[in-house]
Amino acid sequence: MVNNEDRFKKIIAHAKEYGFVFQSSEIYDGLAATYDYGQYGVELKNNIKNYWWKSMVQYHENIVGIDAAIFMHPTTWKASGHVDAFNDPMIDNKDSKKRYRADVLVEDHIAKIEGKIQKEVKKAAKRFGESFDEQQFLSTNPRVLKYQKQIESIKKRLYSSLEDERLDDVKRLIEELGIVDPVSGSRNWTEVRQFNLMFSTQLGSLSEDANKIYLRPETAQGIFVNYLNVQKTGRMKIPFGIAQMGKAFRNEIVARQFIFRMREFEQMEMQFFVRPGEELKWFEYWKEQRMKWHLGMGIPASEYRFHEHDNLAHYANAAFDIEFNFPMGFKELEGIHSRTDFDLKSHQEHSGKKIQYFDPELNESYVPYVVETSIGLDRTFLAVLSYAYTEEKLEDGSERVVLKIPPFLAPIKAAVLPLVKKDGLPEKALEVFDGLKYDYLCFYEEKDSIGKRYRRQDAIGTPYCITVDHKTLEDNTVTIRERDTMKQERVGIDKISEIISTRLKEK
Ligand code: ATP
Repeated sequence: MVNNEDRFKKIIAHAKEYGFVFQSSEIYDGLAATYDYGQYGVELKNNIKNYWWKSMVQYHENIVGIDAAIFMHPTTWKASGHVDAFNDPMIDNKDSKKRYRADVLVEDHIAKIEGKIQKEVKKAAKRFGESFDEQQFLSTNPRVLKYQKQIESIKKRLYSSLEDERLDDVKRLIEELGIVDPVSGSRNWTEVRQFNLMFSTQLGSLSEDANKIYLRPETAQGIFVNYLNVQKTGRMKIPFGIAQMGKAFRNEIVARQFIFRMREFEQMEMQFFVRPGEELKWFEYWKEQRMKWHLGMGIPASEYRFHEHDNLAHYANAAFDIEFNFPMGFKELEGIHSRTDFDLKSHQEHSGKKIQYFDPELNESYVPYVVETSIGLDRTFLAVLSYAYTEEKLEDGSERVVLKIPPFLAPIKAAVLPLVKKDGLPEKALEVFDGLKYDYLCFYEEKDSIGKRYRRQDAIGTPYCITVDHKTLEDNTVTIRERDTMKQERVGIDKISEIISTRLKEK
């Protein structure tokens, strides 16, 4: 059994070797926390986008999409609170010169205590055997209770200090907990400082402060500032939603863990506008819908969990994350937030334009409340990739690496392979390829032994390999090989499309 860190390294190496993800500007030794998607990566990414867009925009009669610019009027970010409050507390270690997020250092410490609780549970489960009652153990064992109390008090102190901007206390907490630099083991820390995560640049040729603009740190604000445009031109009735996907930029203090945390990434966000007072009902609805979307990919429910936010943003009245079991453990994949009327109201104040909805049923006007679903495209990509990555030992003793990507998301749907590169087989295979290419992204290859070619398709997750052999020339049949079972079947050329399409149906 490989450990998780090794597994993660293998996935990253595989993603590079097979054209999914490259380090950006690699020939110049790369740029930190920036990645490029290769020939198969872009297909997987587009298929995920498509799945999201369809399930949001196409399957809901009351959701429409937009595509707003990355550059926005600078006041947008004043109104949204990002100029003043989109900060992460950072701390440097004076010996290692490494920079960390202060809150993450403390949260990692909490995770260690949680690990101790898990150890106690495991030990007790072994001791008590069948009769073990985990819930009872957790609520009565003195050692566990002591750990839980520690966790609670650390969390309380951390979040209240952050909330009140008492950064000196965050530093004191790090010192009191004896947290050491994970790299050097040193306790020689600097003060904790706030660091704004927005990238800024200059508009036009003048370098005055007035021309300072930002690269958007989230796509949501493009939706809020277009609320009136869309509502009026689309004659939208509340409740309704606006969806958008696109790039977002954050100057993350600690950007690592491959495409999990990047400085340039993509979000898929949907803002759902509702009547004030009905937001919690819709919040529950979207929580459930979004989990269904994830499960619709065919990844088991055990890989996902909900996590309720410990400290709500000042404008939110409910917030949950959907976490995924990444190779480095359960981490945030998507956020579902009830944002009240904070954003629209703030844009109303800053722009001086009335942003309201006249509700004909209530016969009154109000600023709508908002429930948001916000998912990272790159994190979803990583979730699919890491779930799909499988090393298998075969009956004949050989091994293969196969990406068990849900077929409808697979970059290539079918590979068309002439058994040998002669006797008219390539010509026949290209005919088969031409018959499929308008419906599916296919791959044609004639080089190397058929076994090697199958392995390469397994490694990029192609659900079907279609082999054209001498018999094909006689009776128009081919063998079709299925990725996961490796079973081969002889079918007529006219049946291929149907077989592929049945397998690709989304849930
Ligand atoms: P985190 O706590 O991991 O920094 P966040 O709570 O700041 O994330 P949100 O602002 O809620 O994230 O953004 C919504 C989604 O965008 C996240 O759930 C995540 O999938 C994605 N996301 C956020 N930051 C990044 C990043 N630096 N790289 C890749 N994806 C990101």
